Amino acid sequence: MRTRVVILGATGSIGRQAIEVISAHPDDFELAALSAGSDAAGLETLARAHGSPPTGLGTDAAVDLAQLEGSDVVLNAVVGAAGLEASLAALEAGKTLALANKESLVAGGELCLDAARRGRGRIEPVDSEHAAIAQCLSNTPRDDIVRIVLTASGGPFRKRADLAGITPTEALAHPTWSMGPKITIDSATLMNKGLEIIEAHYLFGFPYERIGVLVHPQSMVHGIVELVDGSSLMQAAPADMRIPIQAALAPNRPRRELSAPLDLATGPALEFEKADLERFPALSLARAAGQAGGTCPAVLNAANEEAVRAFLDGAIPFTGIVATVEAVLAHHERSEAGNLEQVLEVDRWARRRAREVMRTTSGADKTPNEQR
Ligand code: NAD
Ligand code: MG
Repeated sequence: MRTRVVILGATGSIGRQAIEVISAHPDDFELAALSAGSDAAGLETLARAHGSPPTGLGTDAAVDLAQLEGSDVVLNAVVGAAGLEASLAALEAGKTLALANKESLVAGGELCLDAARRGRGRIEPVDSEHAAIAQCLSNTPRDDIVRIVLTASGGPFRKRADLAGITPTEALAHPTWSMGPKITIDSATLMNKGLEIIEAHYLFGFPYERIGVLVHPQSMVHGIVELVDGSSLMQAAPADMRIPIQAALAPNRPRRELSAPLDLATGPALEFEKADLERFPALSLARAAGQAGGTCPAVLNAANEEAVRAFLDGAIPFTGIVATVEAVLAHHERSEAGNLEQVLEVDRWARRRAREVMRTTSGADKTPNEQR
């Protein structure tokens, strides 16, 4: 039986790589449906090139297609909290959710876990670090684990002194991964790793103090699991998202050839270093929001989405992204994120508040030219 896969966010970076994996292995996979945000022409072209499966545009279509009858796996590669409702729908419909959209778990982690319990759906991580950890955790007794560690490339500005003057073009040039614009900026601020700490908390159920981060500029080791006896299990692979995509689409199928294994003898030396929490405050901010729980991670995420957009539009400086998120969180009174309506409401509040903060912060309402 072929695995029937629905791809949400099919026109994006992950969506296109997922289509590549599926079309390379027609005996294993079948495309059941495709969705995108607003690029109707791009979606149509993709669909025509791949057997004309049903398609749909926008959040409502994504939610419908997430529950498509006869499909087995929903790959959610939508960007941002716009993907949350489709994740919930897939899990409630009992699908396997191959999750690239980490914002689903950041904004609505508890809701996703509840939906999975109710609908008997399950989550397979696509994010490379989480896919790595999942591999290291399989067959490892829970009691043997001290902590899990996510690696981070450190982004393009690991060694750069003046972060304030960074332009969108500089921030969009990631050293090791080629990705959509939002996650590329998140990787430059290290907010991506902050979101991934929260993602890991919900995926694997470890408390925050047992989830670490290590900077590893070569992006070859993706995740580490430290055991009580002093051993560490690590997963290493080329920086090729098709590897975790394939693993998430069909965890129980044999692996198909994708990439040559790493050539450790001739490749670059592997380096590891501590993350610089002072220069990259997003990491501590995200960790604290995760620890506070309730509505705080949803606020962190929504404020970040707005601030990243403003930075890409040239409206705020690079350092204004995390400053905005911090200011919005400081204004937020935590409550329980008990249901979807509460999460959506707090998401809207955080976006409004972020826009106000960016308008009123000195420097934020000037053009990048005036700031120099
Ligand atoms: P992208 O910007 O390249 O693509 C985003 C996709 O989402 C597009 O198809 C777009 O049309 C669709 N979309 C946007 N708004 C939508 C809406 N309201 N309803 C339905 N579809 C909508 O982004 P990407 O880099 O592919 O990232 C997608 C997700 O995967 C993000 O959550 C990102 O954090 C995660 N991720 C990406 C990578 C990577 O290598 N690109 C790695 C790990 C995790
Ligand atoms: Mg990642």
